Amino acid sequence: MTASEPRQSSNFIRQIIDEDLRQGRHGGRVHTRFPPEPNGYLHIGHAKSICLNFGIARDYGGLCNLRFDDTNPHKENVEYVEAIKDDVRWLGFDWGDRLFYASDYFDRLYHYAVELIEAGKAYVCDLTPEQVREYRGTLTEPGRESPYRDRPVEENLDLFRRMREGEFEDGSRVLRARIDMASPNMNMRDPTLYRIRHGVIHHQTGEEWCIYPMYDFTHPISDALEGITHSLCTLEFEDHRPLYDWVLDNISIDCHPQQIEFSRLNLQYTVMSKRKLTQLVEEGYVSDWDDPRMPTIAGLRRRGYTPASIREFIDRIGVTKADNSVEMGMLEACIREDLDANAPRRMAVLHPLKVVIENYPEGREEILSAPNHPKNEGMGSREIPFGRELYIDRADFRREAPRKYKRLVFGGEVRLRNAYVIRCDRVIEDDDGEIVELRCSYDPATLGANPEGRKVKGVIHWVAADRALRAEVRLYDRLFSHPAPDADRSAASFLDHLNPDSLHTLSHALVEPSLGQAAPGERFQFEREGYFCVDGIDSTPENPVFNRVVTLRDSWARMEQKRG
Ligand code: ATP
Ligand code: MG
Repeated sequence: MTASEPRQSSNFIRQIIDEDLRQGRHGGRVHTRFPPEPNGYLHIGHAKSICLNFGIARDYGGLCNLRFDDTNPHKENVEYVEAIKDDVRWLGFDWGDRLFYASDYFDRLYHYAVELIEAGKAYVCDLTPEQVREYRGTLTEPGRESPYRDRPVEENLDLFRRMREGEFEDGSRVLRARIDMASPNMNMRDPTLYRIRHGVIHHQTGEEWCIYPMYDFTHPISDALEGITHSLCTLEFEDHRPLYDWVLDNISIDCHPQQIEFSRLNLQYTVMSKRKLTQLVEEGYVSDWDDPRMPTIAGLRRRGYTPASIREFIDRIGVTKADNSVEMGMLEACIREDLDANAPRRMAVLHPLKVVIENYPEGREEILSAPNHPKNEGMGSREIPFGRELYIDRADFRREAPRKYKRLVFGGEVRLRNAYVIRCDRVIEDDDGEIVELRCSYDPATLGANPEGRKVKGVIHWVAADRALRAEVRLYDRLFSHPAPDADRSAASFLDHLNPDSLHTLSHALVEPSLGQAAPGERFQFEREGYFCVDGIDSTPENPVFNRVVTLRDSWARMEQKRG
Protein backbone atom coordinates (compact mmCIF):
# COMPACT_ATOMS: atom_id res chain seq x y z
CA MET A 1 0.00 0.00 0.00
CA THR A 2 1.27 3.47 -0.77
CA ALA A 3 0.61 6.73 1.04
CA SER A 4 -1.49 7.96 -1.88
CA GLU A 5 -4.14 5.30 -1.44
CA PRO A 6 -7.12 6.39 0.64
CA ARG A 7 -7.80 4.68 3.94
CA GLN A 8 -11.22 3.76 5.11
CA SER A 9 -10.87 4.16 8.87
CA SER A 10 -13.14 6.92 10.02
CA ASN A 11 -12.73 8.92 13.20
CA PHE A 12 -14.42 11.78 15.01
CA ILE A 13 -12.43 14.38 13.06
CA ARG A 14 -13.53 12.94 9.73
CA GLN A 15 -17.10 12.97 11.01
CA ILE A 16 -16.77 16.67 11.81
CA ILE A 17 -15.39 17.34 8.34
CA ASP A 18 -18.18 15.31 6.71
CA GLU A 19 -20.70 17.44 8.57
CA ASP A 20 -18.88 20.67 7.66
CA LEU A 21 -18.98 19.66 4.01
CA ARG A 22 -22.70 18.85 4.23
CA GLN A 23 -23.31 22.28 5.76
CA GLY A 24 -21.13 23.97 3.17
CA ARG A 25 -18.77 25.41 5.82
CA HIS A 26 -15.33 26.72 4.81
CA GLY A 27 -16.57 27.07 1.23
CA GLY A 28 -16.64 23.30 0.91
CA ARG A 29 -12.85 23.14 1.14
CA VAL A 30 -10.60 20.92 3.24
CA HIS A 31 -7.16 22.35 3.95
CA THR A 32 -4.95 21.12 6.80
CA ARG A 33 -1.35 21.70 7.85
CA PHE A 34 1.37 19.90 9.75
CA PRO A 35 3.13 22.51 11.94
CA PRO A 36 6.34 21.12 13.50
CA GLU A 37 8.67 23.26 15.53
CA PRO A 38 12.20 22.70 14.14
CA ASN A 39 13.71 22.10 17.58
CA GLY A 40 14.36 18.38 17.21
CA TYR A 41 13.74 15.42 14.98
CA LEU A 42 10.27 14.08 14.36
CA HIS A 43 9.15 11.05 16.34
CA ILE A 44 6.49 8.41 15.95
CA GLY A 45 4.00 10.72 17.72
CA HIS A 46 4.48 13.27 14.96
CA ALA A 47 3.81 10.50 12.46
CA LYS A 48 0.29 10.37 13.89
CA SER A 49 -0.21 14.05 13.21
CA ILE A 50 1.38 13.78 9.75
CA CYS A 51 -0.75 10.82 8.69
CA LEU A 52 -3.84 12.51 10.07
CA ASN A 53 -3.31 15.88 8.40
CA PHE A 54 -1.95 14.66 5.07
CA GLY A 55 -4.32 11.68 5.06
CA ILE A 56 -7.39 13.87 5.49
CA ALA A 57 -6.26 16.23 2.73
CA ARG A 58 -5.69 13.25 0.42
CA ASP A 59 -9.00 11.55 1.16
CA TYR A 60 -11.09 14.71 0.82
CA GLY A 61 -9.33 15.98 -2.28
CA GLY A 62 -7.94 18.84 -0.21
CA LEU A 63 -4.50 20.23 0.56
CA CYS A 64 -2.04 19.93 3.42
CA ASN A 65 0.74 22.45 4.07
CA LEU A 66 4.02 21.87 5.81
CA ARG A 67 4.62 24.83 8.08
CA PHE A 68 7.58 25.30 10.37
CA ASP A 69 6.44 26.85 13.57
CA ASP A 70 9.66 28.78 14.12
CA THR A 71 9.01 31.39 16.75
CA ASN A 72 11.58 30.14 19.31
CA PRO A 73 14.83 30.77 17.44
CA HIS A 74 17.18 29.89 20.29
CA LYS A 75 16.16 26.21 20.20
CA GLU A 76 15.73 25.81 16.47
CA ASN A 77 18.04 25.21 13.55
CA VAL A 78 18.20 24.27 9.87
CA GLU A 79 19.49 20.77 10.52
CA TYR A 80 16.10 20.07 12.07
CA VAL A 81 14.27 21.79 9.22
CA GLU A 82 15.97 19.53 6.66
CA ALA A 83 15.52 16.38 8.74
CA ILE A 84 11.81 17.10 9.16
CA LYS A 85 11.34 17.55 5.41
CA ASP A 86 13.15 14.25 4.74
CA ASP A 87 11.03 12.43 7.28
CA VAL A 88 7.69 13.71 5.99
CA ARG A 89 8.67 12.79 2.43
CA TRP A 90 9.93 9.40 3.53
CA LEU A 91 6.61 8.69 5.22
CA GLY A 92 5.10 9.14 1.77
CA PHE A 93 3.59 12.61 1.93
CA ASP A 94 4.00 15.63 -0.28
CA TRP A 95 3.31 19.28 0.53
CA GLY A 96 3.70 20.32 -3.11
CA ASP A 97 4.70 23.98 -3.26
CA ARG A 98 3.20 24.72 0.14
CA LEU A 99 6.24 24.82 2.39
CA PHE A 100 5.87 27.70 4.82
CA TYR A 101 7.50 29.16 7.88
CA ALA A 102 5.65 31.06 10.57
CA SER A 103 8.55 33.48 10.20
CA ASP A 104 7.30 34.21 6.65
CA TYR A 105 4.52 36.06 8.46
CA PHE A 106 6.56 38.10 10.94
CA ASP A 107 5.71 41.37 9.14
CA ARG A 108 2.04 40.62 8.97
CA LEU A 109 1.95 39.37 12.54
CA TYR A 110 3.48 42.66 13.61
CA HIS A 111 0.77 44.58 11.79
CA TYR A 112 -1.98 42.51 13.36
CA ALA A 113 -0.45 43.23 16.76
CA VAL A 114 -0.58 46.93 15.91
CA GLU A 115 -4.25 46.49 14.97
CA LEU A 116 -4.97 44.99 18.37
CA ILE A 117 -3.18 47.87 20.09
CA GLU A 118 -5.13 50.41 18.05
CA ALA A 119 -8.38 48.72 19.04
CA GLY A 120 -7.38 48.91 22.73
CA LYS A 121 -7.02 45.10 22.80
CA ALA A 122 -3.31 44.85 23.46
CA TYR A 123 -0.85 46.76 25.64
CA VAL A 124 2.81 46.92 26.45
CA CYS A 125 3.38 45.67 29.97
CA ASP A 126 6.49 46.52 32.01
CA LEU A 127 5.99 43.99 34.80
CA THR A 128 8.95 41.66 35.30
CA PRO A 129 8.41 38.00 34.32
CA GLU A 130 8.08 37.15 38.05
CA GLN A 131 5.49 39.87 38.56
CA VAL A 132 3.54 38.72 35.52
CA ARG A 133 3.40 35.28 37.07
CA GLU A 134 2.35 36.68 40.44
CA TYR A 135 -0.40 38.81 38.92
CA ARG A 136 -1.70 35.90 36.94
CA GLY A 137 -3.54 34.32 39.88
CA THR A 138 -4.18 30.61 40.18
CA LEU A 139 -6.76 28.11 39.02
CA THR A 140 -8.87 29.01 42.03
CA GLU A 141 -8.09 32.74 42.32
CA PRO A 142 -8.59 35.39 39.69
CA GLY A 143 -5.58 37.35 38.49
CA ARG A 144 -4.88 41.04 39.12
CA GLU A 145 -4.76 43.62 36.41
CA SER A 146 -1.38 44.95 35.42
CA PRO A 147 -0.81 48.61 36.32
CA TYR A 148 0.11 49.12 32.63
CA ARG A 149 -3.14 47.70 31.33
CA ASP A 150 -4.75 51.08 30.73
CA ARG A 151 -1.87 52.72 28.93
CA PRO A 152 -3.10 55.02 26.20
CA VAL A 153 -3.08 53.58 22.69
CA GLU A 154 -0.48 56.13 21.47
CA GLU A 155 1.93 55.19 24.23
CA ASN A 156 1.47 51.46 23.49
CA LEU A 157 2.09 52.04 19.79
CA ASP A 158 5.22 53.99 20.55
CA LEU A 159 6.58 51.43 23.01
CA PHE A 160 5.82 48.49 20.76
CA ARG A 161 7.61 50.22 17.84
CA ARG A 162 10.62 50.85 20.08
CA MET A 163 10.54 47.23 21.28
CA ARG A 164 10.89 46.21 17.65
CA GLU A 165 13.67 48.72 17.10
CA GLY A 166 15.68 47.12 19.84
CA GLU A 167 15.56 49.90 22.41
CA PHE A 168 14.68 47.66 25.37
CA GLU A 169 16.35 44.74 27.07
CA ASP A 170 15.17 41.13 27.06
CA GLY A 171 12.47 40.60 29.65
CA SER A 172 11.94 44.30 30.35
CA ARG A 173 8.63 44.54 28.49
CA VAL A 174 6.15 42.35 26.65
CA LEU A 175 3.12 42.97 24.51
CA ARG A 176 0.02 41.43 26.07
CA ALA A 177 -3.51 40.86 24.88
CA ARG A 178 -6.09 42.77 26.91
CA ILE A 179 -8.73 40.15 27.58
CA ASP A 180 -9.83 39.22 31.09
CA MET A 181 -7.69 38.79 34.21
CA ALA A 182 -10.61 37.10 35.96
CA SER A 183 -11.23 34.49 33.29
CA PRO A 184 -11.47 30.95 34.66
CA ASN A 185 -9.26 30.02 31.70
CA MET A 186 -5.72 31.07 32.61
CA ASN A 187 -4.82 31.35 28.93
CA MET A 188 -7.24 34.28 28.65
CA ARG A 189 -5.65 36.29 31.48
CA ASP A 190 -3.95 38.85 29.26
CA PRO A 191 -1.58 36.39 27.59
CA THR A 192 1.77 37.54 26.24
CA LEU A 193 1.77 38.10 22.48
CA TYR A 194 5.37 39.28 21.92
CA ARG A 195 8.61 39.07 23.85
CA ILE A 196 12.04 40.61 23.35
CA ARG A 197 14.94 38.31 22.34
CA HIS A 198 18.22 40.01 21.48
CA GLY A 199 21.31 38.32 20.15
CA VAL A 200 19.74 35.27 18.57
CA ILE A 201 20.21 34.60 14.90
CA HIS A 202 17.02 33.17 13.51
CA HIS A 203 17.61 30.40 10.95
CA GLN A 204 15.27 32.08 8.48
CA THR A 205 15.17 35.79 9.33
CA GLY A 206 18.68 36.24 10.70
CA GLU A 207 18.98 39.35 12.87
CA GLU A 208 16.04 41.19 11.36
CA TRP A 209 13.91 40.83 14.47
CA CYS A 210 14.54 41.23 18.16
CA ILE A 211 10.93 40.65 19.16
CA TYR A 212 9.28 37.31 18.59
CA PRO A 213 5.56 36.47 18.58
CA MET A 214 4.23 33.78 20.91
CA TYR A 215 2.82 30.51 19.61
CA ASP A 216 -0.74 31.34 20.68
CA PHE A 217 -0.69 34.53 18.63
CA THR A 218 1.25 33.15 15.66
CA HIS A 219 -0.57 29.91 15.14
CA PRO A 220 -4.13 31.07 14.47
CA ILE A 221 -2.93 33.87 12.22
CA SER A 222 -0.61 31.56 10.25
CA ASP A 223 -3.49 29.11 9.83
CA ALA A 224 -5.83 31.87 8.65
CA LEU A 225 -3.29 33.39 6.24
CA GLU A 226 -2.87 29.99 4.62
CA GLY A 227 -6.61 29.42 4.33
CA ILE A 228 -6.53 26.40 6.62
CA THR A 229 -10.02 25.01 7.27
CA HIS A 230 -9.32 22.48 10.03
CA SER A 231 -6.46 23.12 12.43
CA LEU A 232 -5.79 19.76 14.06
CA CYS A 233 -3.70 19.70 17.20
CA THR A 234 -3.15 17.68 20.33
CA LEU A 235 -5.28 17.89 23.45
CA GLU A 236 -2.98 20.15 25.46
CA PHE A 237 -4.18 22.97 23.20
CA GLU A 238 -7.83 22.48 24.08
CA ASP A 239 -7.63 25.22 26.73
CA HIS A 240 -5.93 27.47 24.22
CA ARG A 241 -8.80 27.26 21.74
CA PRO A 242 -10.67 30.28 23.22
CA LEU A 243 -7.50 32.32 22.67
CA TYR A 244 -7.09 30.93 19.14
CA ASP A 245 -10.62 32.12 18.41
CA TRP A 246 -10.18 35.43 20.25
CA VAL A 247 -7.15 36.36 18.15
CA LEU A 248 -8.96 35.68 14.89
CA ASP A 249 -12.15 37.40 16.04
CA ASN A 250 -10.30 40.58 16.95
CA ILE A 251 -8.17 41.25 13.89
CA SER A 252 -9.15 42.12 10.32
CA ILE A 253 -8.84 38.67 8.83
CA ASP A 254 -11.78 36.93 7.26
CA CYS A 255 -10.68 33.31 7.45
CA HIS A 256 -11.44 31.45 10.67
CA PRO A 257 -10.11 27.90 10.77
CA GLN A 258 -11.63 25.46 13.21
CA GLN A 259 -9.29 24.06 15.83
CA ILE A 260 -9.94 20.40 16.68
CA GLU A 261 -7.96 18.54 19.31
CA PHE A 262 -7.07 14.84 19.47
CA SER A 263 -5.03 12.80 21.94
CA ARG A 264 -1.28 12.44 21.59
CA LEU A 265 0.27 9.13 20.79
CA ASN A 266 2.20 7.73 23.72
CA LEU A 267 4.18 4.59 23.20
CA GLN A 268 5.28 2.21 25.92
CA TYR A 269 8.97 1.58 26.64
CA THR A 270 10.02 4.90 25.19
CA VAL A 271 9.83 8.63 25.74
CA MET A 272 8.37 11.09 23.30
CA SER A 273 9.16 14.54 24.56
CA LYS A 274 11.66 16.37 22.40
CA ARG A 275 13.41 17.67 25.48
CA LYS A 276 14.08 14.13 26.69
CA LEU A 277 15.03 12.88 23.25
CA THR A 278 17.47 15.79 22.96
CA GLN A 279 18.93 14.82 26.32
CA LEU A 280 19.44 11.21 25.18
CA VAL A 281 21.36 12.49 22.15
CA GLU A 282 23.34 15.25 23.84
CA GLU A 283 24.39 13.16 26.81
CA GLY A 284 25.40 10.25 24.58
CA TYR A 285 22.94 7.59 25.74
CA VAL A 286 22.30 6.92 22.05
CA SER A 287 24.57 7.53 19.06
CA ASP A 288 22.44 10.28 17.51
CA TRP A 289 18.88 11.24 16.58
CA ASP A 290 18.84 8.36 14.11
CA ASP A 291 20.08 5.75 16.57
CA PRO A 292 17.98 2.68 15.70
CA ARG A 293 16.66 2.55 19.27
CA MET A 294 15.20 6.04 19.13
CA PRO A 295 11.45 6.52 18.56
CA THR A 296 12.31 9.14 15.95
CA ILE A 297 11.28 8.65 12.34
CA ALA A 298 14.98 8.76 11.42
CA GLY A 299 15.73 6.09 14.04
CA LEU A 300 12.88 3.86 12.92
CA ARG A 301 13.99 4.25 9.31
CA ARG A 302 17.56 3.30 10.17
CA ARG A 303 16.30 0.41 12.26
CA GLY A 304 14.54 -0.92 9.17
CA TYR A 305 10.93 0.12 9.61
CA THR A 306 9.11 0.75 6.33
CA PRO A 307 6.94 3.83 5.78
CA ALA A 308 3.98 1.52 5.07
CA SER A 309 4.37 -0.21 8.44
CA ILE A 310 4.33 3.11 10.28
CA ARG A 311 1.26 4.31 8.36
CA GLU A 312 -0.44 1.01 9.10
CA PHE A 313 0.36 1.37 12.81
CA ILE A 314 -1.05 4.91 12.89
CA ASP A 315 -4.17 3.68 11.15
CA ARG A 316 -4.63 0.86 13.65
CA ILE A 317 -4.34 3.05 16.75
CA GLY A 318 -7.00 5.42 15.43
CA VAL A 319 -7.75 9.01 16.40
CA THR A 320 -9.70 9.83 19.55
CA LYS A 321 -9.75 12.25 22.44
CA ALA A 322 -8.87 9.57 24.98
CA ASP A 323 -5.41 9.65 26.53
CA ASN A 324 -3.69 6.32 26.26
CA SER A 325 -0.40 4.56 25.90
CA VAL A 326 0.02 2.14 23.05
CA GLU A 327 1.94 -1.11 23.44
CA MET A 328 5.26 -1.27 21.65
CA GLY A 329 4.15 -4.71 20.50
CA MET A 330 1.57 -3.09 18.23
CA LEU A 331 4.19 -1.11 16.36
CA GLU A 332 6.40 -4.17 16.14
CA ALA A 333 3.52 -6.30 14.86
CA CYS A 334 3.08 -3.89 11.94
CA ILE A 335 6.67 -4.14 10.75
CA ARG A 336 6.70 -7.89 11.37
CA GLU A 337 3.65 -8.38 9.17
CA ASP A 338 5.09 -6.17 6.45
CA LEU A 339 8.46 -7.91 6.43
CA ASP A 340 6.96 -11.38 6.74
CA ALA A 341 5.14 -10.72 3.48
CA ASN A 342 7.83 -8.72 1.70
CA ALA A 343 11.31 -9.42 2.99
CA PRO A 344 13.42 -11.95 1.08
CA ARG A 345 14.78 -14.81 3.19
CA ARG A 346 18.48 -15.28 3.74
CA MET A 347 20.68 -17.39 5.98
CA ALA A 348 22.97 -15.80 8.54
CA VAL A 349 24.80 -17.47 11.39
CA LEU A 350 25.10 -15.13 14.33
CA HIS A 351 27.21 -17.30 16.67
CA PRO A 352 29.23 -19.50 14.31
CA LEU A 353 30.21 -23.07 15.15
CA LYS A 354 32.27 -24.92 12.57
CA VAL A 355 30.99 -28.13 11.01
CA VAL A 356 33.14 -30.40 8.85
CA ILE A 357 31.29 -32.96 6.73
CA GLU A 358 33.79 -35.75 6.63
CA ASN A 359 32.20 -37.78 3.86
CA TYR A 360 31.87 -34.78 1.56
CA PRO A 361 34.69 -34.68 -1.02
CA GLU A 362 37.43 -32.18 -0.31
CA GLY A 363 37.60 -29.24 -2.68
CA ARG A 364 34.10 -29.82 -4.00
CA GLU A 365 31.49 -27.08 -4.09
CA GLU A 366 27.84 -27.38 -5.09
CA ILE A 367 25.58 -24.52 -5.93
CA LEU A 368 22.17 -25.10 -4.43
CA SER A 369 19.07 -23.05 -5.03
CA ALA A 370 16.92 -21.58 -2.29
CA PRO A 371 13.58 -19.82 -2.62
CA ASN A 372 13.59 -16.18 -1.57
CA HIS A 373 10.20 -16.49 0.07
CA PRO A 374 8.36 -19.59 1.24
CA LYS A 375 4.92 -18.33 0.22
CA ASN A 376 5.72 -16.12 -2.74
CA GLU A 377 7.29 -17.84 -5.71
CA GLY A 378 7.25 -14.56 -7.58
CA MET A 379 10.14 -13.43 -5.38
CA GLY A 380 12.33 -15.99 -7.14
CA SER A 381 15.27 -17.88 -5.78
CA ARG A 382 18.97 -17.46 -5.21
CA GLU A 383 22.07 -19.57 -5.35
CA ILE A 384 23.78 -20.75 -2.20
CA PRO A 385 27.10 -22.55 -2.20
CA PHE A 386 27.50 -25.77 -0.21
CA GLY A 387 30.82 -27.35 0.69
CA ARG A 388 32.66 -29.63 3.07
CA GLU A 389 33.07 -26.97 5.74
CA LEU A 390 30.10 -25.06 7.06
CA TYR A 391 29.03 -22.97 10.01
CA ILE A 392 25.90 -23.44 12.04
CA ASP A 393 24.74 -21.46 15.08
CA ARG A 394 26.11 -22.50 18.46
CA ALA A 395 22.59 -22.46 19.82
CA ASP A 396 21.62 -25.17 17.33
CA PHE A 397 23.87 -27.84 18.80
CA ARG A 398 23.82 -29.66 22.11
CA ARG A 399 25.86 -32.61 23.15
CA GLU A 400 22.87 -33.97 24.99
CA ALA A 401 19.35 -32.76 24.88
CA PRO A 402 15.83 -33.74 25.83
CA ARG A 403 13.78 -35.54 23.18
CA LYS A 404 11.85 -32.35 22.43
CA TYR A 405 15.01 -30.64 21.23
CA LYS A 406 14.64 -30.32 17.46
CA ARG A 407 18.12 -29.26 16.48
CA LEU A 408 21.42 -31.09 16.22
CA VAL A 409 22.59 -33.37 19.03
CA PHE A 410 25.59 -35.62 19.30
CA GLY A 411 24.72 -38.77 17.35
CA GLY A 412 21.54 -37.22 15.98
CA GLU A 413 20.37 -35.91 12.64
CA VAL A 414 19.13 -32.57 11.48
CA ARG A 415 18.27 -31.07 8.12
CA LEU A 416 20.32 -28.16 6.86
CA ARG A 417 17.83 -25.72 5.40
CA ASN A 418 17.69 -25.85 1.60
CA ALA A 419 20.32 -28.64 1.64
CA TYR A 420 21.04 -32.10 3.10
CA VAL A 421 20.47 -34.05 6.26
CA ILE A 422 23.60 -34.33 8.39
CA ARG A 423 24.48 -36.40 11.43
CA CYS A 424 26.86 -35.36 14.17
CA ASP A 425 29.51 -38.06 14.67
CA ARG A 426 32.16 -36.33 16.73
CA VAL A 427 32.51 -33.26 18.92
CA ILE A 428 35.85 -31.49 19.13
CA GLU A 429 36.60 -29.44 22.22
CA ASP A 430 39.46 -27.19 23.15
CA ASP A 431 41.45 -27.53 26.37
CA ASP A 432 38.78 -25.67 28.34
CA GLY A 433 36.04 -28.02 27.23
CA GLU A 434 34.57 -25.48 24.86
CA ILE A 435 33.09 -27.01 21.72
CA VAL A 436 35.07 -25.72 18.74
CA GLU A 437 34.03 -27.96 15.89
CA LEU A 438 31.61 -30.71 14.93
CA ARG A 439 32.51 -33.60 12.70
CA CYS A 440 29.49 -34.73 10.74
CA SER A 441 28.46 -36.86 7.80
CA TYR A 442 25.83 -36.06 5.20
CA ASP A 443 23.41 -38.22 3.28
CA PRO A 444 23.57 -37.38 -0.45
CA ALA A 445 20.07 -38.84 -0.97
CA THR A 446 18.43 -36.16 1.16
CA LEU A 447 18.75 -33.01 -0.94
CA GLY A 448 15.36 -31.35 -0.73
CA ALA A 449 13.52 -34.43 0.62
CA ASN A 450 13.68 -37.10 3.30
CA PRO A 451 13.97 -40.65 2.00
CA GLU A 452 11.10 -43.01 2.91
CA GLY A 453 10.86 -43.95 6.54
CA ARG A 454 13.39 -41.38 7.70
CA LYS A 455 12.23 -38.87 10.28
CA VAL A 456 14.33 -35.77 10.80
CA LYS A 457 12.90 -33.52 13.47
CA GLY A 458 14.62 -30.23 12.93
CA VAL A 459 15.78 -27.82 10.28
CA ILE A 460 18.62 -25.42 11.00
CA HIS A 461 20.31 -22.70 9.00
CA TRP A 462 23.97 -22.61 7.98
CA VAL A 463 26.51 -20.95 5.70
CA ALA A 464 29.39 -22.40 3.67
CA ALA A 465 32.68 -21.68 5.44
CA ASP A 466 34.80 -20.44 2.56
CA ARG A 467 32.11 -18.41 0.84
CA ALA A 468 30.35 -16.80 3.80
CA LEU A 469 30.85 -13.10 4.43
CA ARG A 470 31.80 -11.79 7.80
CA ALA A 471 29.30 -9.23 9.04
CA GLU A 472 28.56 -7.12 12.07
CA VAL A 473 25.10 -7.71 13.43
CA ARG A 474 23.50 -5.29 15.87
CA LEU A 475 20.78 -6.79 18.02
CA TYR A 476 18.57 -3.98 19.18
CA ASP A 477 16.04 -4.16 21.91
CA ARG A 478 13.83 -1.61 23.63
CA LEU A 479 15.67 1.46 24.85
CA PHE A 480 13.88 1.40 28.21
CA SER A 481 12.96 -1.52 30.39
CA HIS A 482 10.01 0.23 32.02
CA PRO A 483 6.74 0.60 30.10
CA ALA A 484 6.39 4.25 31.14
CA PRO A 485 9.91 5.52 31.83
CA ASP A 486 8.90 9.14 32.32
CA ALA A 487 5.78 8.47 34.36
CA ASP A 488 7.43 6.49 37.14
CA ARG A 489 7.46 8.84 40.13
CA SER A 490 9.67 6.54 42.19
CA ALA A 491 12.62 7.00 39.80
CA ALA A 492 14.79 10.08 40.04
CA SER A 493 14.95 10.34 36.27
CA PHE A 494 13.60 8.56 33.21
CA LEU A 495 17.26 7.71 32.53
CA ASP A 496 17.14 5.26 35.47
CA HIS A 497 14.98 3.04 33.29
CA LEU A 498 17.34 2.80 30.33
CA ASN A 499 17.61 -0.82 29.29
CA PRO A 500 21.29 -1.79 29.70
CA ASP A 501 20.82 -4.55 27.10
CA SER A 502 19.28 -2.43 24.36
CA LEU A 503 22.19 -3.13 22.02
CA HIS A 504 24.28 -6.27 21.52
CA THR A 505 26.87 -6.10 18.80
CA LEU A 506 28.03 -9.33 17.22
CA SER A 507 31.13 -8.68 15.17
CA HIS A 508 31.76 -12.20 13.92
CA ALA A 509 28.50 -13.16 12.32
CA LEU A 510 28.64 -14.97 8.98
CA VAL A 511 26.10 -14.37 6.25
CA GLU A 512 25.46 -16.09 2.95
CA PRO A 513 27.37 -14.58 0.00
CA SER A 514 24.30 -13.21 -1.79
CA LEU A 515 24.08 -10.60 0.99
CA GLY A 516 27.29 -9.03 -0.31
CA GLN A 517 25.20 -7.17 -2.87
CA ALA A 518 22.63 -5.90 -0.38
CA ALA A 519 22.10 -2.15 -0.57
CA PRO A 520 21.92 0.15 2.47
CA GLY A 521 18.42 0.06 3.88
CA GLU A 522 17.55 -3.31 2.28
CA ARG A 523 15.64 -5.65 4.56
CA PHE A 524 15.72 -9.41 4.95
CA GLN A 525 14.48 -12.17 7.12
CA PHE A 526 17.45 -14.07 8.47
CA GLU A 527 15.78 -17.42 8.76
CA ARG A 528 14.99 -18.41 12.32
CA GLU A 529 16.68 -15.25 13.65
CA GLY A 530 14.51 -12.27 12.85
CA TYR A 531 14.24 -9.37 10.43
CA PHE A 532 17.34 -7.38 9.60
CA CYS A 533 18.18 -4.27 7.65
CA VAL A 534 21.47 -3.16 6.11
CA ASP A 535 22.59 -0.18 8.18
CA GLY A 536 22.29 2.98 6.12
CA ILE A 537 25.26 4.72 7.71
CA ASP A 538 27.94 2.26 8.80
CA SER A 539 27.55 -0.63 6.36
CA THR A 540 30.06 -1.00 3.51
CA PRO A 541 30.51 -3.85 1.01
CA GLU A 542 33.75 -4.79 2.85
CA ASN A 543 32.24 -4.53 6.32
CA PRO A 544 28.53 -5.14 6.09
CA VAL A 545 26.46 -4.13 9.12
CA PHE A 546 22.97 -5.45 9.75
CA ASN A 547 20.50 -4.03 12.25
CA ARG A 548 17.89 -6.26 13.77
CA VAL A 549 14.57 -4.62 13.01
CA VAL A 550 12.49 -6.98 15.10
CA THR A 551 12.53 -10.56 16.28
CA LEU A 552 10.40 -13.18 14.54
CA ARG A 553 8.01 -13.36 17.46
CA ASP A 554 7.01 -11.00 20.22
CA SER A 555 9.18 -12.25 23.07
CA TRP A 556 8.23 -9.31 25.34
CA ALA A 557 4.57 -10.26 25.18
CA ARG A 558 5.47 -13.77 26.31
CA MET A 559 7.59 -12.42 29.16
CA GLU A 560 4.84 -10.10 30.26
CA GLN A 561 2.32 -12.92 30.20
CA LYS A 562 4.58 -14.99 32.41
CA ARG A 563 5.10 -12.13 34.83
CA GLY A 564 1.42 -11.25 34.94
P1 ATP B 1 7.36 18.51 22.33
O1 ATP B 1 6.33 18.99 23.29
O2 ATP B 1 7.95 17.18 22.66
O3 ATP B 1 8.40 19.54 21.98
P2 ATP B 1 5.58 19.27 20.29
O4 ATP B 1 4.22 18.76 20.35
O5 ATP B 1 5.79 20.65 20.78
O6 ATP B 1 6.57 18.25 20.97
P3 ATP B 1 5.76 20.09 17.58
O7 ATP B 1 6.92 20.11 16.68
O8 ATP B 1 5.19 21.38 18.01
O9 ATP B 1 6.17 19.20 18.83
O10 ATP B 1 4.62 19.17 16.97
C1 ATP B 1 4.12 19.33 15.68
C2 ATP B 1 2.75 18.74 15.60
O11 ATP B 1 2.80 17.36 15.93
C3 ATP B 1 1.81 19.42 16.56
O12 ATP B 1 0.58 19.65 15.91
C4 ATP B 1 1.67 18.42 17.67
O13 ATP B 1 0.40 18.52 18.26
C5 ATP B 1 1.85 17.08 16.95
N1 ATP B 1 2.39 16.09 17.87
C6 ATP B 1 3.50 16.18 18.63
N2 ATP B 1 3.65 15.10 19.41
C7 ATP B 1 2.61 14.29 19.14
C8 ATP B 1 2.20 13.01 19.62
N3 ATP B 1 2.89 12.35 20.55
N4 ATP B 1 1.07 12.47 19.10
C9 ATP B 1 0.38 13.12 18.16
N5 ATP B 1 0.70 14.32 17.66
C10 ATP B 1 1.81 14.91 18.13
MG1 MG C 1 4.72 22.38 19.93
